[in-house]
Amino acid sequence: CGIVGYVGSQSALEVVMAGLKRLEYRGYDSAGVAVLADGGLAAAKKAGKLVNLEKELGARPLPAGTTGLGHTRWATHGGPTDANAHPHLDNAGRVCVVHNGIIENFALLRAELAERGHELLSDTDTEAVAHLLAEEYSVTGDLAEAMRLVCRRLEGAFTLVAVHADEPDVVVGARRNSPLVVGVGEGEAFLASDVAAFIAHTRSAIELGQDQVVELRRDGVTVTGFDGSPAEVRSYHVDWDASA
Ligand code: GLU
Repeated sequence: CGIVGYVGSQSALEVVMAGLKRLEYRGYDSAGVAVLADGGLAAAKKAGKLVNLEKELGARPLPAGTTGLGHTRWATHGGPTDANAHPHLDNAGRVCVVHNGIIENFALLRAELAERGHELLSDTDTEAVAHLLAEEYSVTGDLAEAMRLVCRRLEGAFTLVAVHADEPDVVVGARRNSPLVVGVGEGEAFLASDVAAFIAHTRSAIELGQDQVVELRRDGVTVTGFDGSPAEVRSYHVDWDASA
């Protein structure tokens, strides 16, 4: 339902949690966050309101990191439980993904993954994407390229945002029939389903086009089509009142 991604020099957890709060008006049933820190990936997720996630983070704090993502979920596949909340991780716990929308061919993808030995731990359509990203990353060693390869196998409407522990300074996003906006700051960059999530930090935005993948780094943003072709970047200034 709501998505926030961040790479920069601030606390990723603080930026992401504040962004998720700005998206709360959309309604949701679960929430989760992940941070890249100390060479690894740390995640927390909880059914219910953001306050439940905040309690979880208070009881079991995540390590401090400056790259991360967050999600508020409106369940479509699998009930609103902790296990079904996003982010979803691969079995090695190295890559994770959050998702808005529906992956129509998830049942086939899950069955194929199970045959290849993956253990899926949720009832969602989303989890298959984390496992597919792990497989493609093990071949390409490049998260944006892994995302492009995976997106070409997905049917349906989706916004996806992913991070990988082996690329601690990168956040990757993708979209098809579902919104995703990039915020470009000074030495930092944001991804969100709605500019409201990052308007407190920057008003310089890029609207992602249909079937595009974006790679965010502190010093810049690269946009391509799902086929890897370079995409024209459409920048604009967000001028509406942030307090509205
Ligand atoms: N289809 C996904 C799920 O049920 C994502 C739902 C959403 O857009 O929040 O987990």
